[in-house]
Order: sequence, then C-alpha cells, then structure tokens
Amino acid sequence: MKKWTWALCIAIIIILFTGMGNVEAASEKGKRYVGLHDRILPIEDIRVVDGDTKVPLKDIAKYLYLPIEVKDGETTIRKRGKEITYNHSTGATTLDGVDQPWQPLASINGQLYISVKYIARETGFQIEYFQEHHTIRIYREEFNHMSHKEFEKVIKAYSVEQQPVSTTKKANVYLTFDDGPNQYTLINNTTLEKYKVPATFFFLGNQMKQNESIVKTVSESGHYVGSHSMTHNKAYVYGSTESFIAEMMGGVELVEQLTGKTSNLVRVPYGSKPLVTPSMQKSLVDRGLKMWDWDVDSNDWRYTNEQSDQIVKNVQEGVTKAAKSGDKEIIVLLHDRSQTTIALPRIIDWLQKEGYSFKSYEPDNHIIQNFLRDPHL
Ligand SMILES: [Zn+2]
Repeated sequence: MKKWTWALCIAIIIILFTGMGNVEAASEKGKRYVGLHDRILPIEDIRVVDGDTKVPLKDIAKYLYLPIEVKDGETTIRKRGKEITYNHSTGATTLDGVDQPWQPLASINGQLYISVKYIARETGFQIEYFQEHHTIRIYREEFNHMSHKEFEKVIKAYSVEQQPVSTTKKANVYLTFDDGPNQYTLINNTTLEKYKVPATFFFLGNQMKQNESIVKTVSESGHYVGSHSMTHNKAYVYGSTESFIAEMMGGVELVEQLTGKTSNLVRVPYGSKPLVTPSMQKSLVDRGLKMWDWDVDSNDWRYTNEQSDQIVKNVQEGVTKAAKSGDKEIIVLLHDRSQTTIALPRIIDWLQKEGYSFKSYEPDNHIIQNFLRDPHL
C-alpha cells in the first residue's frame, strides 16, 4: 500500500514536470512579435523567459525614447519620474530604490534584456496580448490606435511578409527566336516540344508567305508568334515612320491571318536603339503594339556549327548575370539558325538544371523590355 502510494506520487510528479516542460518548450517556439501602437517593431531577438517576453534593452529603448545610463556596474533607465536600476553584479533590479520581487531585467550572454510587460507598465503603456500570434502589443490609451481586431490583421500581414517566398523562386526565362520561319525553325520547334518548353518566335513577313505551314505548326505547338518586320531590310524598315509601321503591321496581320490568333508584339530588326525614332516609337504605341528587345544576347549568328559551345556559354553567362542583378523575367535572344539548333538542347538542359522556369510571351501579363525604356511599349 505504502509502496503503491509512493509510486503514484512519483508518477504524478513526473507527469507534472514533463507536462510543464512541454508547455515551456512550446512557448519558446515560433517567431514572436512586439507591437507598439499600430506597428510591429523590427526587433529580431525576442526571448521568452519563464513565460515573460523580453527584448534587448537597447532596442526597445530606441522606440520608447528611454534614456539609459551605464555607470559603476549599474544600468539605469529614467522615465516619467521613475528610476529603474539593474545591478550587473547581483542581477537585481530596483525601482526608485525598492527591490523588485522578480527579474524584469536579465543579462543573457552579456546583453541586457528587459521585460516588455514591465517597462510598458512602469512607463504608462497599456498591454494587449495576441496569444495565437505570439504577439504582445503596447500602446498609450491617449493616442489614437487600432482596435484589437484591426491590429490582428497587421500581425498577419507582417508574419506572411517575413516568409522568404519570392527570394527562393528563380527567374522566368523567355527564349525568343528571330528571323524565321525557315528550315531551322522546325528543328527548334521539335526540341522545344521534346523539353516541353514554351517560347516566342519573331517571324519575318516575307518568309511567312513562303512557309505558311511552319507558322501554323509553331503556333499550334503553343508558342507565341510576333512580328520581326516584313523584309528585315534596314533601308525599308527604318526609311520613314510610314514604312516602319507598314513593316511591323504587315507582320502582325500576317500572323493573325495564318494562325487565327491575334498578335501584338514586335521585335524590330537590330534592336530598337538607336534606330527607332521618337515618331516610330509613338506610332507603335498609338497602334497598341508592344515591343521587345532582350536582356541576354546569345550572339548565336556570329558562330559556326562547330562553335555552338560558345552560344551555350554566352547564354549561361548572360542569364546568370541578369539573375544576379535581380531580374525575374529574363528575355534571351536567339535565331532560327543551324548553329542554334545544335546549342538549344544544351541551353535548355542547363536552364532546367539551374531551376529556371520557361515562359512564352503572355499578352495579358506583359513584361516591359525595351531599350528605349518606354513604359507604354
Ligand atoms: Zn533579325
């Protein structure tokens, strides 16, 4: 009987202690926040000691305008006629010379922390708890402030923002192919199909007329088809604003005619700068056309089939550099040429391994990319 009672007592003690341990451990977990009036203070190092929220004194002092004096082994805070003193050798806190029954101030790893509840109460703040959000908020009654419910929304927005979502996602890459349609267009199209990569093609009007079925095939494969002018001839394209717009409109109209899909994106031959004049620029905007230059130039046209490695390298270097600069939408310039068909599988392989996503041009989600820096294009 006696033995049994002892066993029960020990069991109860164990349950109590482990139970308490769990509660304490649970309370230490997760991110915590301290609110002041209607905002969350950007204090990183928030600790819970025996169920009490403590923050570095130097941090909270800044926000509450608390003058701190460190002298003779003591740290003193003076505010609203009160004097709170922490003795560094005894670890005791006094308020106006009176010993405080608990430790509102504590030194952890050589840094002084103060109880938020304590400093708030002693300096005339109201205290509010948001248990579910691990937040303690302090405010002065005489100041305008949000309601409990409203502030809860602030905490929610803040805690979502804290999660590193956008930084982990790699950039979108838009592969673009100029100068088709021709025999190499179909090879590139097949490679893209094999890797399930969407892309954007800028076709020449005069070649579309001779290769209607290629235009249809590319469009049916799900790629976006834009205009790269009718002739690619510098003298015609840039001869006057009238010929410029005729070259561009001729291309998009042909795309629509052949594919049954609307097209409003152009890539002007040789890039927009410095060839496109302000008048040409305006005429594009007036017709509701969009214009893409590029972020990364593969320079593929410079190389032979045997030098296709260099094309891959140019894309790798260009994309890496663009991504490092923070670009989340990277447009890569390629051409429907023999050497490019050889480089393309390796380019896609590398981009996929690096974790980039592929997109074709999305008219409803237009990305502005023109050397003229025109936000309307
Ligand atoms: Zn071109």
